[in-house]
Amino acid sequence: MRAFHHPDQVLHAPQQYMRFGRLAPVRDLPARTERLLGALARRGVAVEPPPALGTGPALAVHTPAYLRFLETAWARWEALPDRGPEVWPNTFPYWSGRPGEAARPDCPATGLIGQAGWYLGDLSVPMGPDTWTSALRSNETAAAAADALVAGERSAYALCRPSGHHARADRASGFCYLNNTAVAARRLGTRFARVAIVDVDAHHGDGTQQIFYTSADVLTVSIHADPSDYYPFYTGYAAEAGHGAGEGFNLNLPLPHGSGGDAMAAALDAAAERVRGFGAEALVVALGFDAHRDDPIGVLKLDAADFHAVGRRLAALGLPTLVVQEGGYALDAIGPCLDAFLEGFSA
Ligand code: ZN
Repeated sequence: MRAFHHPDQVLHAPQQYMRFGRLAPVRDLPARTERLLGALARRGVAVEPPPALGTGPALAVHTPAYLRFLETAWARWEALPDRGPEVWPNTFPYWSGRPGEAARPDCPATGLIGQAGWYLGDLSVPMGPDTWTSALRSNETAAAAADALVAGERSAYALCRPSGHHARADRASGFCYLNNTAVAARRLGTRFARVAIVDVDAHHGDGTQQIFYTSADVLTVSIHADPSDYYPFYTGYAAEAGHGAGEGFNLNLPLPHGSGGDAMAAALDAAAERVRGFGAEALVVALGFDAHRDDPIGVLKLDAADFHAVGRRLAALGLPTLVVQEGGYALDAIGPCLDAFLEGFSA
């Protein structure tokens, strides 16, 4: 399996994260990358840097105005008087969430604070001096791994940080700025007529769902903790099945809090049945490890060994497969989780 990662992805070092009404310890630590690279090294997997692809891949799923905001936010922030350490919004717009539209209009405000509220969807996506660089490199990493599959590779792993699956067409949220999984799926679409995404991160892949909600050529499946009292709260319910041409091409499989490996395995069987029925020609796995029982923001109870079964079940689909790294914040657990997943996937 080829693996991709760019060293600049470690530069993003968020300083602030709002949780339960106070500033909480930051969870998307740069050290996550080391732990995952360590797992690859133990398996003898060489890591390749992606080429400089720029914003071309991201433009396949994100609006130009949103990308312009992300690219310029830090320089504009630095010009503010009495600014805090990172671009952070202090206002949030109301938006109806019309399901037929992946993106809102461009932000009507021209000032940075108004735009920060429009484009940064919550208080877990602060932007520091290197956030844009890391997000872009992370996105290029997913795109390069997708290109390897388009060129004939059977499987590839994209070590992405920051993660992507909460990023919508025009909004960052949940530690995510650019939707790496969605970009990868779009690139695979240049060769494969039907692409399935199976997201096993503990959080609903809300950004990915929104981007493809009206599409019939990309099936989105997400297995995650019940969102009724867990991030992202407002989507991830079983009734969300797609819209318009995309009706029937979105499947949410929420798990009760406290679920372990057996519940995940049963949900994966349901996911696999849908992927087969769809006639997928390629698979993108949005791989998070925050379902691990030690995860500091987790509510599921998987052990590292349970990811062996996750890998095995997904490999059994027999499809060209791109694995895109999403979340997982228990520093001592994520390396063993990746070990177990890759072992199961290659078994
Ligand atoms: Zn997550």
